[in-house]
Amino acid sequence: MMASEFMGAASSSESTRVAASGGCRCGAIRYQVTGEPVHASLCHCRDCRAASGAPMVAWTAFPTASVTIVAGEPASYTGTGASVRHFCNRCGTGLLFVNEEMLPGIIDVQTATLDEPERFAPRAHIQVAERIGWMEGIGALPEFERFPEA
Ligand SMILES: [Zn+2]
Ligand SMILES: [Zn+2]
Repeated sequence: MMASEFMGAASSSESTRVAASGGCRCGAIRYQVTGEPVHASLCHCRDCRAASGAPMVAWTAFPTASVTIVAGEPASYTGTGASVRHFCNRCGTGLLFVNEEMLPGIIDVQTATLDEPERFAPRAHIQVAERIGWMEGIGALPEFERFPEA
């Protein structure tokens, strides 16, 4: 999918005004977002995987001015290039990603930290060039409501 199509997808097909909130697991950090997401995706890059300790990370991007920290003060870590990841230094939850060189004017919010993540469905897998091999067919795994019978 072309980058231009991808960037345009969220705003054209979904005109709902979003006003949402989210935060970290322990509640020390809370944020609010206004307006519409720019895009929403599942990222498979090595940097996201290393930062999260998870095989991929769901992101919903908003214009920088749309994201406000309303409680607490996230810690930050500058990783690859100009990538800055903001997280709670009390409970460890990853919250925000900023890269003013690659994504000027954008703040990426970790979708799973929004209070209502159901509202922000990802629209694409990105950085699949770096995806863990077994993630490609992950949708075919058997599913259990809780745990499989012993
Ligand atoms: Zn926390
Ligand atoms: Zn990534």
